[in-house]
Amino acid sequence: MDTRRRRVGNYALGGVLGEGSFAKVLLGTHILTGEEVAVKMVRKKDVNKKEYLRKHMRREAAMLQRLHHPNIIQLYEVLETDSSYYMVVELVEGNFADYLADRGRLTEPEARRFMRQLVHTVDHMHKIGVVHRDLKVQNLLLSADGDIKLIDFGLSHAWDGDHLLSTQCGTPAYAAPEIYSKRKYGPAVDIWSVGVIFYKMVMGCRPFHVESPTNLAKLHSAIMRGCTIPNDVSLNCADLIGRLLQPSETERITMDQLIRHPWMEDDLGPLRWQVAVVLTPETVNRDAAAYVADKYRLSAADVSAAVKGRQVSAITATYHLLDKKLRRYRGVLHSPGVYAWTRDCSATPQV
Ligand code: ATP
Repeated sequence: MDTRRRRVGNYALGGVLGEGSFAKVLLGTHILTGEEVAVKMVRKKDVNKKEYLRKHMRREAAMLQRLHHPNIIQLYEVLETDSSYYMVVELVEGNFADYLADRGRLTEPEARRFMRQLVHTVDHMHKIGVVHRDLKVQNLLLSADGDIKLIDFGLSHAWDGDHLLSTQCGTPAYAAPEIYSKRKYGPAVDIWSVGVIFYKMVMGCRPFHVESPTNLAKLHSAIMRGCTIPNDVSLNCADLIGRLLQPSETERITMDQLIRHPWMEDDLGPLRWQVAVVLTPETVNRDAAAYVADKYRLSAADVSAAVKGRQVSAITATYHLLDKKLRRYRGVLHSPGVYAWTRDCSATPQV
């Protein structure tokens, strides 16, 4: 069908901007003002065949009507003809997935800018009472100003803060383990997906590798084995990855903690938070101490200065459990008298 001659409402329809599993998105031009928009079109014959498509579309329109945020696609109007339903939305020509594919890996300051936008967008959604359930790089567009715009609310669900959700849905590579395990779940599933997106930004690849990403059983066991935490990113970045991709939803970082995480707040680049682990003389285990000193590039003098000067603060285990090798020293690291210390003495040790 030649869509270029078609018109819907006050819009002349142009070429195809993209296609999803149930909709075609076309360029639209307002016939009076010339304003360009994106028009998401769903054929009624498809909708009538599949009840879930009707739900998908109604849901998307209803959610977009509730959400007004600079990083969420703006819904202008919903139209209907004899043959199709249309959603007229803000046009965004760039695509974050293509941008990432071109760039490979982003630097941490670049990733931080996108992460701040993404996290504040998801926070806004959750505060309004919407869980997206399909956050992935393919659902992020990129505006001409380089800002992300979240799309595709077809799987989103209202969240009243009390009643957990149970439908297994989303995109396997981005879906949280509680969805796979058929447990009831809440907005923490979006935080997990933010973790997968974050990993892709800073590593240029997915955190969990399986030959067939739709093999849920294999994907689930890969998730439970944990992802490789890269050693060429800052400690705060590694910490944030581990806390976002925490398989237990009760231990996963919360939205408030995420917003305040030092990596999110850090403007001075990855080296500022050079956190070191120091074992006190009372608990020192030579192997662990040597490993830790080496890992965090501490000299023996640094270590003893830190211990003597008591520039220390009690740690929680979370920080160190990120580091697989350190798990071997779990007993030591959990015991009282094990401390975290930051080289940047003007800053509070982050634990
Ligand atoms: P899915 O199969 O993921 O459910 P869908 O059928 O709901 O997808 P969308 O993801 O909303 O469809 O859109 C499909 C594609 O159309 C997008 O990947 C994107 O390339 C393009 N697109 C969507 N919205 C816009 C927009 N506002 N401006 C420009 N292009 C868009």
